[in-house]
Amino acid sequence: MAECIFCKIAEKKVPSAIVYEDSSVMVFRSIKPLAPIHLLIIPKRHISSVNEIKEEDKDVILEMFLAAQKTAEKMGVKRSGYKLAVNVEKGGGQEVFHLHMHFLSGWEGEKDIDVPGMP
Ligand SMILES: [Zn+2]
Repeated sequence: MAECIFCKIAEKKVPSAIVYEDSSVMVFRSIKPLAPIHLLIIPKRHISSVNEIKEEDKDVILEMFLAAQKTAEKMGVKRSGYKLAVNVEKGGGQEVFHLHMHFLSGWEGEKDIDVPGMP
């Protein structure tokens, strides 16, 4: 989509701090970090929200979780742990309407955090 900021990031028309990338997904740092490590995992092709996921998207959804694993390894938090969160639509706290998963980690100990839109 022409006006979608995450599509522009995926196409590298807008710069981002990329942590991981392959042919179908990209992981980059959030510009509004809510945790010591706050990354966003996106499919490169435009899917606006969880509500718009279709059967044919199943490969890219798996790729998002595999990217989370690889990112956790790379960031050194695979064993200590991390949180994955997906906000769905405005009422669920979704701000950018291109599917994305928040990857949050890097706290001392086992503190929980508040993610906007999550109870
Ligand atoms: Zn998009």
